[in-house]
Amino acid sequence: MNSTSRRNFISSTGLAAAGMAIMPKIPAGLDRIHDGKKLNVALVGLGRYAGILADGLQVSRYCRLAGVVTGHPAKAAAWKAKYGLSEKNIYNYENFDAVAGNPDIDLIYVVLPNALHKEFTVRAAKARKHVICEKPMAVSSRECLEMIEACSKAGVQLAIGYRLHYEPYNLEMRRLGQEKVFGTVRYVEAGLGYKTINFESSGAGKPFDINDPSEWRLNRRWSGGGALMNLGVYCLQASRYILGENPLSVTAQYGAVHDAERFAQVEEAIVWQARFPGGAMANCNSSYGYNIDGLHAIADNGFFELSPAISYGPFKGRTSHGDMHFPEVNQQAAQLDGIGKLILENKPLPDHISGKEGLADMCIMEAIYKAADTGSRVDVVYR
Ligand code: NDP
Repeated sequence: MNSTSRRNFISSTGLAAAGMAIMPKIPAGLDRIHDGKKLNVALVGLGRYAGILADGLQVSRYCRLAGVVTGHPAKAAAWKAKYGLSEKNIYNYENFDAVAGNPDIDLIYVVLPNALHKEFTVRAAKARKHVICEKPMAVSSRECLEMIEACSKAGVQLAIGYRLHYEPYNLEMRRLGQEKVFGTVRYVEAGLGYKTINFESSGAGKPFDINDPSEWRLNRRWSGGGALMNLGVYCLQASRYILGENPLSVTAQYGAVHDAERFAQVEEAIVWQARFPGGAMANCNSSYGYNIDGLHAIADNGFFELSPAISYGPFKGRTSHGDMHFPEVNQQAAQLDGIGKLILENKPLPDHISGKEGLADMCIMEAIYKAADTGSRVDVVYR
């Protein structure tokens, strides 16, 4: 089974905000990767999604799997054998900082539980390696700021793993919305929820099962939150990239809890409403209690929608003028290529896949949690 036909979770596209990031000064040594070779990537945390990314790296045009960072020697041995990795490109969490002296690793891809994203992004930056960090960027906006600061200080680029920014159906939703093809968009609805997930991957690790009480996503210390942080971030992204704006304020409600013991620390389900500067409203929901995967936009002269929209596809889309037809792509390879090509060319990453985007999402999610906790409308504070 290839990765495009696998079902698991999320990831998303991005904001349209036009501005380009200011190009960081490339430190001496990093410019050597512009020699026509592929970007050498090391994956940190060999869990389920790392296995999917490894598949994408096998078919990427601009990136290749060159190293791994893992807490388990048996996984290190298995990945070394499977991908022909060099022993000197294999690290554990303790000796990871030595990657600073390894010219054969250009980029660190952080695929750890959310609470470890900041630590390993900052350590990667100090080692003067470019970074891709998985979503959600971290567990607080304060952490996101530290990550941006560390990368900026080191002169390395920081991208967030928003894979749908490279997925044709979602790119079309963004185009239809931002170019006002059906007129001004007035309303966006987005939902992502998984009750059960048969998450297969070629990587090490057990299948994903939110019913497993040892799953770190159920532990606030490791996850930072529940369905919103894991799944809702895609709905939030979708509303932002369809409208090309950032919400001004939010209201929110926690959903029903069907298993109080399992969801003692994080929310099982959440629904929120966001008000955008142009007057549009978004109504979004995410849940571990039911299956949903859809995007719907209503504009003055028509509608456009996807369902499935956010998972790994195959996607289905239609507008008030008819069905959408786009090729299915390997989302991970497309994302790695989009980011890898720019880095190889010494070009700045666009804001909508950068740390700025992850920070904005975190500020909005903090406002959503505050709104759900207080029952009040909360203005989003962007840091
Ligand atoms: P997994 O639990 O499958 O893997 C996480 C890995 O992190 C583990 O296998 C382990 O690797 C390492 N790790 C280090 N410390 C811990 C710890 N305390 N508890 C658990 N694992 C630890 O998670 P996923 O791969 O599903 O998710 C990882 C990240 O990727 C998350 O941020 C998630 O949101 C994101 N993600 C993104 C997706 C997308 O489509 N963009 C899809 C799925 C996840 P090792 O044994 O090698 O040390």
